[in-house]
Amino acid sequence: MEARTIRVRFAPSPTGFLHLGGVRTALYNWLFARHEGGKFLLRIEDTDRSRHSEEAVEVILEGLRWLGLDWDGPAIHQAERLALYRQAAEAMLQKALAYRCYCTPEQLEAMRKEQQARGESVGYDGRCRHRTEFPEGQPYCLRFRVPEGDPIEFEDLVYGKITVDRKELDDLVILKTDGFPSYNFANVIDDSEMKITHVIRGEDHINNTPRQIAIYQALQLEPPRFAHLPMIVDENRKKLSKRHSAANVLAYREEGVLPEALLNYIAKLGWGYGDQEFFTREELIEKFTLDRVNKAACAIDPEKFQWLCGKHMEAASSERLGRLWLERLVEQGVIGPERRDALLGTAWLDKAVATLKVRAKTIAEMAAAGRFYFVLPDRYDEKGVHKFLKPGVLPALEELCSALRPLEEPLAEAALEEQFKLVLEKHDLKLLKLAQPVRIFLTGGTASPGIFEVISLLGKEETLRRIENGLEFMKTRPAE
Ligand code: GLU
Repeated sequence: MEARTIRVRFAPSPTGFLHLGGVRTALYNWLFARHEGGKFLLRIEDTDRSRHSEEAVEVILEGLRWLGLDWDGPAIHQAERLALYRQAAEAMLQKALAYRCYCTPEQLEAMRKEQQARGESVGYDGRCRHRTEFPEGQPYCLRFRVPEGDPIEFEDLVYGKITVDRKELDDLVILKTDGFPSYNFANVIDDSEMKITHVIRGEDHINNTPRQIAIYQALQLEPPRFAHLPMIVDENRKKLSKRHSAANVLAYREEGVLPEALLNYIAKLGWGYGDQEFFTREELIEKFTLDRVNKAACAIDPEKFQWLCGKHMEAASSERLGRLWLERLVEQGVIGPERRDALLGTAWLDKAVATLKVRAKTIAEMAAAGRFYFVLPDRYDEKGVHKFLKPGVLPALEELCSALRPLEEPLAEAALEEQFKLVLEKHDLKLLKLAQPVRIFLTGGTASPGIFEVISLLGKEETLRRIENGLEFMKTRPAE
């Protein structure tokens, strides 16, 4: 028999942001499909119109695109397929696999209260199952008549064998009074129609699975395989709150996190491959299998995330980081688009990126740390001023200007070092005593890339201008 092509889907309900858990579900489905040479489909579960928002759909698509989780074929929107669910529900009604339920919300609420008062588990008691009268003009919903029979059993690819007695499944609504399908019903109809072979989703859905399997069986359809993913919890092992930073994946893009760093981090929330922590996208595809998914809840680990961000910055090409860096500076209004275009592909850009990427974990950090390459420092670090701008160092600084003036451009780092050395010897100073004031004048702060690299990248004129500004500052500021 020909092996079936793997077909999986990510089926988000667009009710809020795309959060870490959602991305993990999307990622595992995507990795599984790409590893197996299968298809990764996208289905927007937008039948709950009260909670629906177009903006939320856009946020999901945008998040997936940013992360490079490309889906096969057009995204499917459940709201555009209502006729399909209605037809399927009608067909079930015809075959007596479903029945009309006229219970009002008030009646259902009263039933629940009575069940609670009696200490029974809460669920629909099937009171409309055997109804023979169908009141004209009254709203009704369609409920699935859960057939009697053996317990529902399935082999979860992560949690193993799961068995549920049918008595635990009440007759769930398949078509609501407003004509919209319920989540469980539309999910089954679509997964079957889309020929989904594996349903990979959060463990919060594990209780829905037996209900869905009961529908597949009633319709004589073969259910897909199921793999439920462990919960993601916060640093204190509590459920992730909506306010947590992990609640919105696009916030990571705002921070300038590289998408591959976030994917690497999320991949490890519930899956592992020995001790390996760093994975490229290609390695994840190559190594991802469902049998390595954990059962236990996994806690987010901000420190590990930071570490991975740094590792992926290191691994990224200078060309790409340069482009992202300049784009961010344009967004921030630090440089204009013409300046960006003029710098793209230059050796200057490669070198500037090399000085910044080793210290930065995100593009935003790079932008902040490398702003001085384009604009004069708007202030000098106060502690640095106090510590390093001593009147005694003025003559050496002035001499340094004279030593730099005759140098030929481009300034070679070795030549700069040589000139510094001569000035230091003459004034009997340690490098730090001279380099720190220069660093403050050039960058505004006391920490920056290597001073010779900075001078060489700023160029002679700009360096001299900034040192002269600094000297002016030192001479005119009131004594401490
Ligand atoms: N719309 C459901 C959710 O967002 C999908 C569940 C499933 O994958 O079956 O949780």
